[in-house]
Amino acid sequence: MVDSSRNYVDGQWSETRTGDTVDVVNPANPTETIARYQQSGVADANEAVEAASKAAEAWANTAGPERGAVLREAGKRLDARTDELTDQLVAEEGKARPEAAGEVQRAVDIFYYFAEKASDLGGTVKGPSGRNTNLYTREEPVGVAALITPWNYPIAIPAWKLAPALAAGNTVVLKPASLAPGPALALAEALDEAGLPDGVCNVVTGPGSTVANAFVQHEAVDAVSFTGSSHVGEMVYDQATDEGKRVQTEMGGKNPTVVAASADPAEAAEIVAAGGFGTTGQSCTACSRAIVHEDVSNDFVAELVDRAESVDVGPGLEHEMGPHVSQDELDSTLEYVDVAQNEGATLASGGGVPEGEAVEDGYFVEPTVFTDVESDMRIAQEEVFGPVVAVIEVSDFEEGIEVANDVPYGLSASVVTDDHTEANRFVDEAEAGVVKVNEKTTGLELHVPFGGFKRSSSETWREQGDAGLDFYTIEKTVYDN
Ligand code: NAD
Repeated sequence: MVDSSRNYVDGQWSETRTGDTVDVVNPANPTETIARYQQSGVADANEAVEAASKAAEAWANTAGPERGAVLREAGKRLDARTDELTDQLVAEEGKARPEAAGEVQRAVDIFYYFAEKASDLGGTVKGPSGRNTNLYTREEPVGVAALITPWNYPIAIPAWKLAPALAAGNTVVLKPASLAPGPALALAEALDEAGLPDGVCNVVTGPGSTVANAFVQHEAVDAVSFTGSSHVGEMVYDQATDEGKRVQTEMGGKNPTVVAASADPAEAAEIVAAGGFGTTGQSCTACSRAIVHEDVSNDFVAELVDRAESVDVGPGLEHEMGPHVSQDELDSTLEYVDVAQNEGATLASGGGVPEGEAVEDGYFVEPTVFTDVESDMRIAQEEVFGPVVAVIEVSDFEEGIEVANDVPYGLSASVVTDDHTEANRFVDEAEAGVVKVNEKTTGLELHVPFGGFKRSSSETWREQGDAGLDFYTIEKTVYDN
């Protein structure tokens, strides 16, 4: 068991003032304790903010290329540890190894990407406003940014907040999710070894309602970037805006794949299965609704059930689909299985806990397919966050788009069609921040913006790509006579 995990505050690895710790267990085998982390309190959070505040001016005044060099060096150090970090991610969060390896690689790539951006922060030279007057704009850091992250991408999401924040010259306090905080601490280790000055990045583990809430309330915090559930995100948004802070919230999804009459049922089922069962359905962009034209519905369901039944479920190190991250998440998915059946949906596949030696101890669940689902059922409206796909049959393409948009979320949406006009129409009308044609709803490129509509996102800001820097910069216009 790793017992060396500490908070990282003001360049020091420190223990919490509360004296409390919390154990993280292996979700594939909960009798195995993986690591012990600090269960911090408000005093630890405040100390981290004070360190970030003290370091802010010097880091803001550090030249962009110098900031970039630290990020690049940290990226190299992470790169050198990819195998070890992948194993840690599998052990703490339960993800299948290839998915975990992809996520660690993504974190490395994000560091390299924003290392380059640090030298190219924008600002423009405008025509002179009069004789002898230089007119230009410059991008300045916002100040101290609080980063609050979920457990489902425990290294990629902290990286996609940390790297642009630091590249733009902000200092940060980060509170990773308690179920899998290790990978975020590894980012701090890499930055520390790369020579990041003390106090520029601070990581404090502990309960969100204590540590993250203290960040949001602290007067020295200028910006809050949150990723997690809509319920918590909306609360954080209200609190942070009340405090006059800049705030970004990236939240839940109820992502549809619309299957048109022209679609090949096997190809559509492949796309829906990949989006729905990948990462055990624990992805904000997971496909949880297949909205299928009646002409292809029977064939599509047969193909999807076939795929659901052939998923190899077991510990992530050797199997295709790992467990849920915790007993609570497993219970929540199983509860939705009951809810859906009570509402009148038909269980076409899965719905229970798998059997066998490899899966007897962990938080495993079967890939699950429901048919006879109506759009107003809870199974079609609420985020399940498990490998559960609700199939909703429609009689034409227009109804498919209507049903796709008939939810309070709008993160990712995809369409499977052979008809280019239908594809364009879907791109026009889908109420989602990410729209895909003939692709699964999951999977993101790091150089393009990511965010959602409706309850999926606060909409004002996007993450990743150039847009990812906007949240962490403030533009100043200069008239220099
Ligand atoms: P969560 O909302 O429970 O927790 C997210 C973070 O908020 C954690 O660090 C938690 O400790 C913290 N938190 C909890 N209570 C808080 C409070 N009162 N004040 C401040 N912070 C608090 O979410 P989760 O279970 O960790 O993650 C799963 C959710 O995240 C899903 O809904 C998923 O869709 C969403 N998600 C969204 C995106 C996206 O980019 N849109 C990406 C990944 C996950």
